[in-house]
Amino acid sequence: MTDPYELFAHKLTHAYRRSGRIFIHGAVIAVTLSGFLLTEVALLPVALWLAFLLATMGYHAYLGRRLTVVDRRAMGGINTRPLTFFAALAGLGWGAAAAFLPVISAHLQLLLILTLTAIAAASLPRMAALPVVHAAFMGGLFVPVLIALISVFGADHWMMLGVLLLIWGGLTDEARRAHADLIEIYSTQQTLEEEAGRDGLTGIANRHSFDVYLEREWRRAQRLQVPISLIMIDVDFFKKYNDRYGHPAGDRCLAAVAKTLAGSLRRASDLVARYGGEEFVVVLFHTPRDDARTVAENLRGAIEALGITHEDTSGGVVSISLGGATAVPGVAGQPGALLRAADDALYEAKAAGRNRVAWAASQPCASEAG
Ligand code: GH3
Ligand code: MG
Ligand code: MG
Repeated sequence: MTDPYELFAHKLTHAYRRSGRIFIHGAVIAVTLSGFLLTEVALLPVALWLAFLLATMGYHAYLGRRLTVVDRRAMGGINTRPLTFFAALAGLGWGAAAAFLPVISAHLQLLLILTLTAIAAASLPRMAALPVVHAAFMGGLFVPVLIALISVFGADHWMMLGVLLLIWGGLTDEARRAHADLIEIYSTQQTLEEEAGRDGLTGIANRHSFDVYLEREWRRAQRLQVPISLIMIDVDFFKKYNDRYGHPAGDRCLAAVAKTLAGSLRRASDLVARYGGEEFVVVLFHTPRDDARTVAENLRGAIEALGITHEDTSGGVVSISLGGATAVPGVAGQPGALLRAADDALYEAKAAGRNRVAWAASQPCASEAG
């Protein structure tokens, strides 16, 4: 079975969308704590600690915002290694404050330990989305604190040690549960979307509806011996779009593309569906080759005319490549052959330079149509 952690990686990244604000909260707390520490500790060590903490915390927040999906459809998950590493460093940034424990008064010690515990607890809701990241942060934070406590107080403060270990364990367990809950919510959401036949992000028909629709229209075209056309559509250089403008902007772009595609189709029997990722598919019942090509060309022009800025394409705007195929279904013909022919044509359109329409020369399952 696919690891749900990878399956929903895309959604889990949403937990990180407020990384900026969380950084600011953390920075305010760090600066305040530094102010108190300065009443008893020299400026240099406190400044060094604060600088290290702000740098690691800041870079971790930056990575969190930039999380990108490697390939959602391949369920490749997300690359969490740098994020995990900097979570450990950010944790260590906080934990390093424990180095002050031996040189400060009892009430500052209490304040410090209280603050660190609160920071550990506050990290839970966001980091629970990615358990390894949470574990790394907690390890970075708690290990130095425990070491400092043992070396400063020896066995005398075993109660404090015990309580901290309990808090650490409790938070880790809570993170595990929160993660399981998130996965549960996402699976339920996905099942509901699937059953409703709608794609959650774009609101147009989803892959499941498309499969059902194509099968039905194919049989109908077979019975009536009329042509049916299929257009595969793929957004050009979309990975670069995500990389440059961020995943949420990518999502908005996909929604806008879907809306424009749907708005450009005229007949009630025309269907546009999200095939997966940044790929869409259009089914045109009773439509011969030349008419279908015209529709495809209109769709291409409509997306170009949307004018969504994309600095990595030659035209400077988001564009799509389209591959089409037309067939009058033969007796033994299967819709899968039409889909493959359209997909091959799409590949040609990509190879020929993108932002264009290519059409299957002959169709595989019946006499040439149109
Ligand atoms: P090409 O012009 O050859 O099609 O290049 P491309 O970058 O569009 O193709 P590729 O298949 O390498 O990348 C597709 C990208 O689409 C990768 C993936 O992160 C992104 N993507 C897929 N689904 C979604 C989604 O739901 N939202 C966002 N924002 N991005 C998505
Ligand atoms: Mg693609
Ligand atoms: Mg693409």
